[in-house]
Amino acid sequence: MKPTEKPRVAVRSRAAAAPKRAERRLVGIPVAPGIGIGPLFATSEARPEVPRLTVAAEAVEAEVARLDVAVRASRKQLGKLRERLAALPDDISTELDPLMEAYQRMLAPGRLLRGAHKRVEARQNAEAAISDEAEALAAAFLAGTDQAAARHAEEVREVARRIVRNLTHTPFRSFAGAPEGSVLLAEWLRPSDAALLDPAKLVGVATEEGGADGHTAVMLRALGVPAVLGAAGLTGSVRPGALAIVDGSDGVVILDPTPATITQARRRIAEHAGELKKLSRLRGLPAVTTDHVPIELQANLELPVELKLVARSGAAGIGLLRSEFIFMNRDDLPDEDTQAELYRSVIAAMDGDPVTIRVLDWGGEKEIEALEQEGLVPAVAGDNPALGLRGIRLLLRQPELFETQLAAILRAANAGPTRVLLPMVTALSEVREAREVYERVIRRLRRRGETLPAIIPPLGIMIETPAAALSADAMALESDFFAIGTNDLSMYTLAIDRGETDLTQLYDPLHPAVLRLIQFATEAALRVRKPVSVCGEMASNPRWTKLLLGLGIRSLSMNAASIPRVKQAIRALSMDECIRFARRVMELADPAHIAREFEDFEREE
Ligand code: PEP
Ligand code: MG
Repeated sequence: MKPTEKPRVAVRSRAAAAPKRAERRLVGIPVAPGIGIGPLFATSEARPEVPRLTVAAEAVEAEVARLDVAVRASRKQLGKLRERLAALPDDISTELDPLMEAYQRMLAPGRLLRGAHKRVEARQNAEAAISDEAEALAAAFLAGTDQAAARHAEEVREVARRIVRNLTHTPFRSFAGAPEGSVLLAEWLRPSDAALLDPAKLVGVATEEGGADGHTAVMLRALGVPAVLGAAGLTGSVRPGALAIVDGSDGVVILDPTPATITQARRRIAEHAGELKKLSRLRGLPAVTTDHVPIELQANLELPVELKLVARSGAAGIGLLRSEFIFMNRDDLPDEDTQAELYRSVIAAMDGDPVTIRVLDWGGEKEIEALEQEGLVPAVAGDNPALGLRGIRLLLRQPELFETQLAAILRAANAGPTRVLLPMVTALSEVREAREVYERVIRRLRRRGETLPAIIPPLGIMIETPAAALSADAMALESDFFAIGTNDLSMYTLAIDRGETDLTQLYDPLHPAVLRLIQFATEAALRVRKPVSVCGEMASNPRWTKLLLGLGIRSLSMNAASIPRVKQAIRALSMDECIRFARRVMELADPAHIAREFEDFEREE
């Protein structure tokens, strides 16, 4: 490439005027059903802000560590992208691989990182240090005689931007400018990015990274936007503005579709709409089996915009309100009044149907900047965040945060039946300690003269760790109800990250180890007559309903859009056959045999 030529990234982003490319199909993980057709929106030009500060002498070491963490994260992201590129058709991988290699070279110990370290040691903050060093390097490239100077200059700047994004937790894409009817394309989305999406604007979402039951997938399903995650080769090789089809039912992204493919997709959109209309007729019908066993079907809620969907779904209340959204995408923590008002509005909207509010489940991939800014959580996560300070562990360590939320829930509970749910429990002592805090808050509110509901909201626990499931008999005596979280339960039992793209076929909630834990916990609750529900993604799959019912589950909570399909499944099943089916499945120890048992059942139906 001659020095006067544009760098490759820019060429690609301006390629809208280039000749039309052949249709390409990229396979990913289907995470939110439906099909969307629209122009791609990929804001690869968005630049993260570079803050400029003078670092105090005693903070230099921590600043260097912060820079190193961001560099490690950047290396990991690029390593993963490159690995996945290797599996793509030659024309795409040959085009992108040299670029990835160049980025990785710049992230290896060398001039860029050495220079940035020196700048931090001279008390520049990490963001400014890496950006300035990259600029200095780019200038040096451009001043030389190397034919590829312009390309190298753009590469080093791009690497610095990636590091700054990781330092500042800036999303890799800015979504604000997404035009109406577009398909959002991103390398990856954090749950907090997904929380900012406007489902009315987007017809589809496609990303390169992400797993089937990661929190981003959960959010996208909740928003009801057709979505495919983990589609390798998406970013970098697309032309912004080009037409794309996202098939969130089959997990396919089609770039530059031919007219015939578009016609076919339009037909499927119409079929899907027809099916939804048919399902909506189930709304007023009860969720009962053919032998008249009533099943409670509730909705999970992660964003206030979903309340409308919940109302349309015929949900009998909210079985899991993930309160994280209240804390995300803001600079400060919501105070007691703000939280009470939010909870009250949800409880009132449910009009007498129960609402289960899960207290803050921070940790793992759920980033909440306000908590970092208030110094309540470490700015630099440990090497293994999913195994670190999560859920109830953080709340017990930060009693003020916990007490504020409990007080807000208790006040809001005057508006209707409410339950309080504790996340990520692993030990009995956590339940006991949490109950002590709960009772302390109740006493304090009474002293303050607050009116509390006649029935104090029951305090239950998530069964989402093998430790909680295996101690379920003791846990059932100390807690008022169980909500089985099959997402984390599968992740921790199978030792597979739920958000991991490449191991997604090993993330199997039907693995006998997971099923046995569900069975053990369910039976432990039922023995002492404590309510038990399933609120993980497993609850939303109508194929799996028969198994959960057969194991004794009578309450399911899921994304609102799945309720009609699950209701349809329940109305076609008898409890008798569910119990017989579950017995057969629970005798099997091989996941492949379990899968076959499901197929046999469906064939006989
Ligand atoms: C779960 O782990 O199954 C669950 C419902 O909680 P979350 O998905 O919010 O981690
Ligand atoms: Mg969980």
